Amino acid sequence: MVSRIIPVDPFDLVVFGGTGDLARRKIFPSLYRRFLDGQMPQESRVIGAARSSMTEEEFRVFARDAVLEFVNGAKNNTEALDRFIAHLSYVPIDATGEEGWKELAARIRPGVVHAFYFSVAPSLFGALAERLHNYGIADRDSRIVVEKPFGHDLSTARALNAVLARHFDESQIYRIDHYLGKETVQNLMAVRFANILFEPLWNAQYVDHVQITVAETVGVAGRAGYYDDAGAMRDMVQNHMMQLLCLIAMEPPYHFDPDAVRDEKLKVIRALDPVGSDDMVRGQYTSGGGMASYLQDIQAPSSRTETFIALRCRISNWRWKGTPFYLRTGKRLRARTSEIAVVFKEPPHSLFDEAEGWRANTLVIRLQPNEGITLEVMIKEPGPGGMRLVQVPLDMSFAEALGEEGTDMPDAYERLIMDVIRGNQTLFMRGDEVEAAWAWADPVLAAVEGRGDRPNLYDPGSTGPEEALMLMHRDGRRWREMRTG
Ligand code: NAP
Repeated sequence: MVSRIIPVDPFDLVVFGGTGDLARRKIFPSLYRRFLDGQMPQESRVIGAARSSMTEEEFRVFARDAVLEFVNGAKNNTEALDRFIAHLSYVPIDATGEEGWKELAARIRPGVVHAFYFSVAPSLFGALAERLHNYGIADRDSRIVVEKPFGHDLSTARALNAVLARHFDESQIYRIDHYLGKETVQNLMAVRFANILFEPLWNAQYVDHVQITVAETVGVAGRAGYYDDAGAMRDMVQNHMMQLLCLIAMEPPYHFDPDAVRDEKLKVIRALDPVGSDDMVRGQYTSGGGMASYLQDIQAPSSRTETFIALRCRISNWRWKGTPFYLRTGKRLRARTSEIAVVFKEPPHSLFDEAEGWRANTLVIRLQPNEGITLEVMIKEPGPGGMRLVQVPLDMSFAEALGEEGTDMPDAYERLIMDVIRGNQTLFMRGDEVEAAWAWADPVLAAVEGRGDRPNLYDPGSTGPEEALMLMHRDGRRWREMRTG
């Protein structure tokens, strides 16, 4: 098989917030895996930067421990790990002060790719951008990577875009949505646009509805402050689920090119109808099975923040008029699972007397666990007992089709960080996309906040509040079973 590694140029990657949780759990482990695969060029350097007054050695121990903790099997190859760690260094720096910046400037080498990962609170983005500019560290070819949350509403997202735009061109800004780095999500584009099979059916005439589910079993412990301010709508729907909806609904771009893809996604967001109160169910988990309720978790007895949301979305364009897109996401649910299901319509005429076993053809794109794509089709049940129908999955599981390569899926961050170095923005959100998504979400949030709605309560381990089932039942449809795998 041809090598899967696309070589990248040597780089200096500065990780602001290099001592933080994201750097520890995702950024360093991902870089190590790219190093192991031979994708990180020998001449590359990774520079951690944060306020903590760590020595270089202490920082390397921190990053080494992170790799050992989060990369399977790393402890069996300490020689490679030592070689990786030798690429790392540390500069104590305060984003809002002046210490450390000259030292950082001196470390950045000419002639390599310069990338600056803002793995810090968004309130520091402006200070970082300004100092990178003032100290002459970033130039017109430098890239900056920014993390979610990108704004709390339209006006804060606009303000963040404006702060970054003061010193960086849009072509230099990489807004991460790690869902876009998932293999299956990219595969969704391959399935749609590299096959003739699906595209003729991919419209309101043949698709009955689409369901997108992102379910978690965990509560909010550890992130209470952030979460209570955000809720499921801001934490999941406005960004990740909106991106998934766009990839399902967009027109074929003229080319697999960053702006061509993002132009098409933007058109979908702009074609979304406003969400009415009948189109939405909000929920909040209660206590049960020895687990605390949301209100106990966040220690705020009167919070009305939703930990679950289900939405019926409509896209007013030629392709999708009449096909609802149902979205649901929540915490403390029955299973940890993320999937997109494209549910097709009934055949126009049934040939078979016994149509009882009939179920809709469904294309299921599983994001987690067991990433893969399944097409559920009807066949004849084997045996002599007449023409009985049964639904079977045509499983495009990567593990089976691609052997070992299919089971060893790279983490989304591996792909995304290497895309930054390659200068490819296809899987990153453009500023106008983010603003359009907020422009759609803002009125929904404002209406809820204005009415002071209390979320419906649901039991931990359930599939969410009863009212969410009704959202679909009223339309004569039902949610797919929520189960792991
Ligand atoms: P964190 O654990 O709180 O780390 C924050 C980092 O910023 C630390 O390294 C901290 O180090 C540094 N920092 C704070 N103030 C600074 C300043 N004035 N100057 C320089 N460095 C400063 O946060 P995190 O979880 O890593 O999150 C980082 C970003 O990623 C946030 O925007 C977050 O929303 C986003 N994010 C995180 C996750 C995740 O899983 N953790 C997931 C998605 C998005 P010092 O205290 O030493 O300065």
